[in-house]
Amino acid sequence: MAEFSIIDTYFNRKNVNSIDLGVGDDSALLTPPPQQQLVICADTLVAGRHFPLDTNPHAIGWKSVAVNLSDIAAMGAKPHSILLALSLPQIDHDWLKGFSQGLYDCCDQFGVSLIGGDTTQSPHLTISVTALGWVDTGKAVTRSGAQVGDFICVSGQVGDAAYGLQHLGHPLQKRLDYPTPRCHLGQQLKGLANSMIDVSDGLAQDLGHILTASKVGAEIELNQLPIDATLKKLQQETQWKYALAGGDDYELCFTISPQNYETLLQQQLDVNISKIGQITEQNGLRIIKNGIDHPLKFQGYQHFA
Ligand code: ADP
Ligand code: MG
Repeated sequence: MAEFSIIDTYFNRKNVNSIDLGVGDDSALLTPPPQQQLVICADTLVAGRHFPLDTNPHAIGWKSVAVNLSDIAAMGAKPHSILLALSLPQIDHDWLKGFSQGLYDCCDQFGVSLIGGDTTQSPHLTISVTALGWVDTGKAVTRSGAQVGDFICVSGQVGDAAYGLQHLGHPLQKRLDYPTPRCHLGQQLKGLANSMIDVSDGLAQDLGHILTASKVGAEIELNQLPIDATLKKLQQETQWKYALAGGDDYELCFTISPQNYETLLQQQLDVNISKIGQITEQNGLRIIKNGIDHPLKFQGYQHFA
């Protein structure tokens, strides 16, 4: 049957970590490490909605894994394995080859195994990945732990992917197509950060989720936003709009006490960290420039005013 030959040909590679039973039976089997909680999440990508129909299949494969590993990272957890539910309009071997290669490239880079899934036909190309990871019991970093006085930090740069989407062909398109889940940083922040989220819908909106869950407010200093040199050539308001409202960055936004921030900086980090603001008692998100209120007019920001 076509379904089984697709699974065998493209989705049945060797596992890269400890799996008791992977692809091939009714379910997969894992043995949880002692004193660890299972961390689990899922994300679906629909062709034409989450990526243009003609996107390179290798990039689609990479991104469908990366966005899930980013959610695992945002809990301070270590990614372990994924399941793949794939709905295909037709069997296109070139597409499947590129897609599976991209998926496994991302899995291999972060030491994750594909342990099962489902393959069906449907008029719409839909890719749904479930990711599993482990975290020391009680140590997951949630959205609800932000404390007044915490520094607000973000990894890498923000706004790149949104710029890439609007300027296809520009080198920043790579940041849209091949997001880097901050798996190592996420685990380093376990025990240090008070709250964390990954930035998928724009920094202002995602930080807003931390503020709501933690019942606190925040100040963001525009001059501290980590913005790519390409975007720095644009009008300031435009740059800030990309940085605060652009989606698909998959960076980590976290809040951390000043003391733990110092501890973090003493560690070896594989990505830059920018301190962009502070958690405040007063609810809402205040945007400031050189310490002075600087209201911005774009969508996503009013939401928190
Ligand atoms: P069942 O009929 O019992 O649900 P399937 O015939 O759908 O099982 O799948 C056979 C095996 O292949 C299962 O182990 C399943 O997890 C795995 N599998 C199916 N589709 C995929 C996929 N796209 N990627 C990885 N594993 C898959
Ligand atoms: Mg079965």
